[in-house]
Amino acid sequence: MIVLKEINDYDRLDPEFRDKVNSYICFARWYVPYYRRSLQDFCADFSRYYEMPFTKDDSLSSDPLSFVAFQDRVVRATASGGTSGKRKMIFRTEEDLERSVDTVTKVFRGAGVKRGDRIAILQPFDMWNTGHHAMAAFQRIGALSFPLGLSGTDEYVLWLLEKLCCNILFATPSRASFIASLGKGGFCLERVLCTGEPILEAHRESVRNAWGAEIFGTYGTEEFDGIAYECAAHDGYHLVDDDLIVEIVDPETLMPAGGRTGLLVLSKINRTGTVLLRYAVGDIVEVDEKPCRCGSSAPRLKFIRRASESIYLYNGLKISLQPIEGAIRSVLGSVPIYQIILEGGGGKERMRLIIQKSGSDDVRDQVLRSVLSSIPDLEEAYALDKTVDIQVVLDGSFSSFSTTRRGKLPRVVDRRQSPP
Ligand SMILES: [Zn+2]
Repeated sequence: MIVLKEINDYDRLDPEFRDKVNSYICFARWYVPYYRRSLQDFCADFSRYYEMPFTKDDSLSSDPLSFVAFQDRVVRATASGGTSGKRKMIFRTEEDLERSVDTVTKVFRGAGVKRGDRIAILQPFDMWNTGHHAMAAFQRIGALSFPLGLSGTDEYVLWLLEKLCCNILFATPSRASFIASLGKGGFCLERVLCTGEPILEAHRESVRNAWGAEIFGTYGTEEFDGIAYECAAHDGYHLVDDDLIVEIVDPETLMPAGGRTGLLVLSKINRTGTVLLRYAVGDIVEVDEKPCRCGSSAPRLKFIRRASESIYLYNGLKISLQPIEGAIRSVLGSVPIYQIILEGGGGKERMRLIIQKSGSDDVRDQVLRSVLSSIPDLEEAYALDKTVDIQVVLDGSFSSFSTTRRGKLPRVVDRRQSPP
């Protein structure tokens, strides 16, 4: 594995790894139709890898087979969830699956899974890899899986946790917090493994309060499988994949960031099904290469935000979620689980900010004032132009929230008649 942040880093590569990457670039150009086209002017020389064109994710969604090296050897197709765009289909050969399970096993070992653990998997199976890979990795570790997927009702999940004494739950942080909020305790739960969404302090608190359990995040994408885990120090996610190239680029210029923070761009150099080189997964991260308190020296990723985590309003305003979170924090002291629902149409939009917290009307008004004063453009649209109506809802339960079929709770739900 290698982490590249500045142009000079591309020259300082271990010769053995550099040769491996160069021959993989040649392989991609020879066998993968998409790269045969996009890399025809690029010579296979790693010192100029930062000049290689990014892989376009809309090409991956519109023509998934053009990314496959050995079509006659693929044995599994899976799809990405499409929470941040169109769905993409990924193909794996048997060797790919074997390597995926290797890295996913490392991720789960890192997050503390041991032989003899009993794990309720509340992650999708069907066309998504998350559940399948997790089950294969748990089997390899010697842990017992309960592959509930997304179909188990809350009552059934609670019954299972109680009767079969699962000590680990693997779910999205939203689903775990929701189950924790049902107020049943006394289980054997020790850890909650999470993936699929950013983990908020509010999620950690809810499982701690309900069960005395601790959340450990894992990071991966359908395109790259599991790649990093959160250790007991809870200070970033350790990368585990030896065949991964991690680039940190400036989100505007798309050149090496020259610092520790930027857009995360990944390449995996061992795939023979779907091949992806220089693929931006859509997260802005900080990379920390200092040794960790847990003793591991594997570099850590710290997630800052989704690159596209902004709301676009009809009046041309682009509002990023950061100042909204800052405004909530300044009133409530922390950022609880929240969701923004956009409704209405061209003339008048409505933005509902739902916060998972009980509180008086007075607190609600304070949050609204704080949001408005943090974003002057939004205040203008709300108070002067009246093109946007903003409503803050404090809801201690989860009844006002909207979740996806995969059990995720998106930060922004767009229900406008014709989104821009
Ligand atoms: Zn660590």
